[in-house]
Amino acid sequence: MPMNTPDQYQDIRDAVRALCAQFPGEYHRRIDEERGYPEAFVNALTEAGWLAAMIPTEYGGSGLGLAEATVVMEEINRSGGNSGACHGQMYNMSTLLRHGSEAQKQLYLPKIASGEWRLQSMGVTEPSTGTDTTKIKTTAVKSASGDRYVVNGQKVWISRIQHSDWMILLARTTPLAEVKKKSEGMSIFMVDLRQAE
Ligand SMILES: Cc1cc2nc3c(=O)[nH]c(=O)nc-3n(C[C@H](O)[C@H](O)[C@H](O)COP(=O)(O)OP(=O)(O)OC[C@H]3O[C@@H](n4cnc5c(N)ncnc54)[C@H](O)[C@@H]3O)c2cc1C
Repeated sequence: MPMNTPDQYQDIRDAVRALCAQFPGEYHRRIDEERGYPEAFVNALTEAGWLAAMIPTEYGGSGLGLAEATVVMEEINRSGGNSGACHGQMYNMSTLLRHGSEAQKQLYLPKIASGEWRLQSMGVTEPSTGTDTTKIKTTAVKSASGDRYVVNGQKVWISRIQHSDWMILLARTTPLAEVKKKSEGMSIFMVDLRQAE
């Protein structure tokens, strides 16, 4: 971008920078040394509404777009923080927004926007399945009583699971051999991590 072109996201940059300035480099270095999680920083971002940037206004978010969300993440990284501590809140929410029912959106999104619940995690990758997610081996089969699913499988690389209340889980509900298109027959489950042992 030429240097004299006004940045249409300057207002967002200024506001995020002001918040980030409250958490100087020493804060992030200390957390890193302790192998900790920047709780106070993530909470401040949530309270200011930045992690709900892409949640539509009718569900309590700001209704901004991907470009604005990217600017928020960029400013976090520029400030010496690490957006990896919280970016899952944005992209996992998008799965819910795109594929969730109206009742699910009404249930989860306002609480995610307010910070009451964190949706920071997704369980997609498996020990033997990476880029080609259509080959996942994890299955979800309806129980005999029909009121729940029984999930069997193994997931790896579940980032931020210990800092999240909910996890998005990808499982096969129809075997690969029985679907016309390999991307069919997979379902998303919302897993309440607070009930996990
Ligand atoms: C820091 C980190 C955090 C992560 N967090 C999560 C998480 O929270 N949840 C989660 O589910 N997963 C997570 N992952 C897993 C990540 O999404 C997987 O690593 C990714 O899907 C790739 O899978 P893989 O490592 O098995 O590589 P593979 O799929 O085996 O790929 C190996 C190599 O082959 C290349 N390749 C693969 N297929 C093709 C193709 N068709 N054509 C050309 N090249 C190809 C790839 O680019 C790669 O270089 C995380 C990974 C990292 C590194």
